[in-house]
Amino acid sequence: MSTSPLRVIILIGPPGSGKGTQATLLKDRFAIPHISTGDLLRSHIQKGTPLGHQAQKFIEKGLLAPDDLILEILLQRIAESDCRKGYILDGFPRTILQAEALQTVFGNSTPPIVIHLDLNDKKIIDRLTQRMICSHCGALYHLHLSPPKIPSQCNHCGNPLVQRKDDTKEVIIERLKVYHTLTAPLIHYYSDKKLLHTIDCDQPKETIFAQIITACDPSDLSSQ
Ligand code: ADP
Repeated sequence: MSTSPLRVIILIGPPGSGKGTQATLLKDRFAIPHISTGDLLRSHIQKGTPLGHQAQKFIEKGLLAPDDLILEILLQRIAESDCRKGYILDGFPRTILQAEALQTVFGNSTPPIVIHLDLNDKKIIDRLTQRMICSHCGALYHLHLSPPKIPSQCNHCGNPLVQRKDDTKEVIIERLKVYHTLTAPLIHYYSDKKLLHTIDCDQPKETIFAQIITACDPSDLSSQ
């Protein structure tokens, strides 16, 4: 009996490059779960778990949560049954140590598809300071580019939109610094392994999505 290979898609990119948006589209296309370590952490914080308590002070300052903490959360999540056919990682790995830990989990059997969403810092600051998020379902809006139909209200569930605490200009600049120092080295790490696909994210989200699909499955022309 043959088993289909695990499809693991890793999205790497600075905050605001569109990882969450693309992960949501990919989840529907491939019917595999979207795992955002940022969302997992925010859910721990909301529930007041000890892990959430530990992570909160890092997130609010724009710093990374400690590797051991994030690994514990991630390994728990990918052990769940809905991850058997694969999953989309949004925001993990974010350091070389995290990438190496993931490599240990896969062994040599499952090379991940690594998508690098590339966007310059100026565009990021514009996107994130204008970003609003639904307090209930997590849907994302941009005050100018994709505003809600009714101001401050989610189009999908009607709940209030809020700004993430770490989407202030000061914290965004810190997050970018952390990205360039700790996460950007992953681009070379995966490029050396010939697993990296870089996509220019200063394009409409549909175009970016089509390019990701081609990278994930070059034989799939239905997106074009
Ligand atoms: P963004 O990609 O827009 O920065 P996320 O929701 O992915 O937002 O992450 C928010 C915050 O959660 C990060 O700034 C960091 O503090 C923490 N975080 C998320 N993923 C990781 C990770 N893999 N390792 C360490 N910290 C993480």
